[in-house]
Amino acid sequence: MKITGIQSQIVSLPFDMGGPPATFAGKAWTHLDILLVRVETDEGLVGWGEAFGHAGIQATRAALDGIVAPLVLGRSSGDIAALSRSVLHATHLLGRNGPFVFAFSGIETALWDLAGKRAGQPLARLLGGEVRERLPAYASLLAYHEPALVRRNVEAACAAGYRHIKLHEVTEEAVAAAAEVTRAFGAALMVDVNCAWSVPAALRMADAFAPHDLLWFEEPVWPPEDVHGLARVRARGVPIAAGENTAGLFGFKALIEAGAIDVAQPSVTKIGGIGEMLRVITLCEAHGVRPAPHSPYFGPGLLATMHVIAARVEDPLVEVLWLDMEANPLDPWVRAENGHVRLPTGPGLGCDPSLGVLDRYRVGSVVRTA
Ligand SMILES: [Mg+2]
Repeated sequence: MKITGIQSQIVSLPFDMGGPPATFAGKAWTHLDILLVRVETDEGLVGWGEAFGHAGIQATRAALDGIVAPLVLGRSSGDIAALSRSVLHATHLLGRNGPFVFAFSGIETALWDLAGKRAGQPLARLLGGEVRERLPAYASLLAYHEPALVRRNVEAACAAGYRHIKLHEVTEEAVAAAAEVTRAFGAALMVDVNCAWSVPAALRMADAFAPHDLLWFEEPVWPPEDVHGLARVRARGVPIAAGENTAGLFGFKALIEAGAIDVAQPSVTKIGGIGEMLRVITLCEAHGVRPAPHSPYFGPGLLATMHVIAARVEDPLVEVLWLDMEANPLDPWVRAENGHVRLPTGPGLGCDPSLGVLDRYRVGSVVRTA
């Protein structure tokens, strides 16, 4: 059960979002970059994980290859909780929320994949849950800005069978255009503004969006750690969602104790992996907060989220990015059909990524061995 090899690899998958590409850090966003983590043990087993990358993928990869992988190599793959404690303690002075925790998240997920493969059980069952083969999903649309484009994509997502739609728009005009369509289809609407506003501005926008009856209003306040500011927006009566930028269990404890959220969104590739996400879900259960994990992923991070949701979330809803991918390493499993995703039910995460797709779209790889 000893960890003998850790490989990081970046695959870059072209996509079409149904409009002009979004920009981030001055660059057009035309490819989805995924940081895959492959962990090998002396039993000959291989586990897969995914570490959060986005525009900072090279930083996460440097943290993984240079610091986190050497801390993990040679250790037992079986005692995931103790290994998490030890690695996160060793790296805590480098940040409790950032590339080092993201990097470890990928390894931790791969260790759960290994645990499931060793036991011959899908992760959902290993977590004590039922393996639900289909899970309801929501279409998470990127930012289009133009109300006409927003409308066109919301119509397409509703026509594809989604009954939950999330926007990344910041104007009342764009939200109103979407709301007209979702109302006609009987679909729920959520709006995510990625921490766009000060508290006074967020209060004004909460009032502006109020007629559209949002299922949730996501991360309205800058900075994300202003839990009391977020609680003031929630007091306006709109359900608040947050958590993708929250550091671990104690970050969620602060959000919940401040009365800031209705919906908690732990992100498995960012928070430290599956174990920390399970702790957050338990905390949510104790406080009547709905867990709705953040999962705009197309790799093992999405699979891990789906298994955790299947096993542990009473009211399941899986976030799926509204994109047309040139290739998907998890095909055919996670392509949404009629607003639902299919959970692969093999041992561990249920399926391995397609090696053919990885070979075709890989843009870099580093192997570390014990
Ligand atoms: Mg979000």
